[in-house]
Amino acid sequence: MRALRLREWKSDPVLVEVPDPEPRPGQVVIRVGGAGACHSDLHLMRDFEGGLLPWGPPFTLGHENAGWVHALGDGVTGLETGQPVAVHGPWGCGTCARCRLGAENYCEDPANAPVPSGGGGLGLDGGMAEYMLVPDARLLVPLPDGLDPVAAAPLTDAALTPYHAVRRSWGKLPPGTTAVVIGAGGLGHLAIQILKATTAASVIAVDTRPEALELALREGADAALPSDEGTAASIRAATGGRGADVVLDVVGTDATLAMAAAAARTLGDVTIVGIGGGTLPVSFFSVPYEVSLQTTYWGTRPELIEVLDLAARGLLRPDIVEFPLERAVDAYRQLESGKLTGRAVVVPSSAG
Ligand code: NAD
Ligand code: ZN
Ligand code: ZN
Repeated sequence: MRALRLREWKSDPVLVEVPDPEPRPGQVVIRVGGAGACHSDLHLMRDFEGGLLPWGPPFTLGHENAGWVHALGDGVTGLETGQPVAVHGPWGCGTCARCRLGAENYCEDPANAPVPSGGGGLGLDGGMAEYMLVPDARLLVPLPDGLDPVAAAPLTDAALTPYHAVRRSWGKLPPGTTAVVIGAGGLGHLAIQILKATTAASVIAVDTRPEALELALREGADAALPSDEGTAASIRAATGGRGADVVLDVVGTDATLAMAAAAARTLGDVTIVGIGGGTLPVSFFSVPYEVSLQTTYWGTRPELIEVLDLAARGLLRPDIVEFPLERAVDAYRQLESGKLTGRAVVVPSSAG
């Protein structure tokens, strides 16, 4: 089969021929129907190098995946060949307390995971290929009626990650409050939809690109602001001087982190989602009183089930640009050059 492989750090991926995967006992091979192109893959190609992560190339890219069950290993029950499924992407040990709750993103025994703190497309072979090996049937979530693998793929990361972040701040988003999303790209446009579908907060989107701001307004954002030195002040002005109750920074550079802290309300939440490499100095007077600052990594399997339910009911609608597998490199190029709006999804094979 063909697979888009990252062969070494600081390199572009290449489409090569590799053997079809075969499931061992307990494992499942899926035929991939959609694999999202995440900005994190650009960080893998450009920013990371040996020693930073507990795993490394070579591996097949693609960590937001959905498809159809293709082959079942011995002993797998509860799944049928041809059934549409989403892959829960963070693969933990499967037996620690966190994994048993489905929070494999925060596995406490990563040494006993298939790869420490990674998964398919992050150290192990991912979904930018015709077939993908999933090491345990528990990592597959059947798709509800009305969802196909192309639409489901970005839900497993581009929606699941902001859903996890928004969900933990739900208590701070009653009517009358404001949430800010900095970076209205693949994750950000879905963060806006998630805020609109699950809270009563007003939503302000911030981006550097006019087309991303237009998309944000189409997704239901109440306001869309260009990203510059004046943005935090504009957010304060738009909130009667109070600031935003919740800020999701889906970029994570020095400039956006400073903006997030300056735009936050006392007692607010600032969540760092983007892996832009920035830092935020924190001292008693540098952030509003009692602001909680947090990072976040991906989401849990129960949350993925909730996200799929929202999408199956039409409350989440990923804005998708499809690419065939032979044009996967183009998808990343367009993402990198800021030409894409929404999410690029690579489609290695279609239904039937
Ligand atoms: P994307 O490229 O689709 O979107 C990023 C958006 O940010 C773009 O619209 C871009 O125009 C905008 N942007 C860039 N600089 C900006 C600035 N200074 N101010 C405002 N907007 C700006 O990327 P994506 O796939 O949505 O990923 C976003 C980030 O989230 C990446 O760093 C990615 O690695 C990270 N990520 C984190 C997790 C996690 O678990 N924490 C999961 C997935 C992705
Ligand atoms: Zn990702
Ligand atoms: Zn675990």
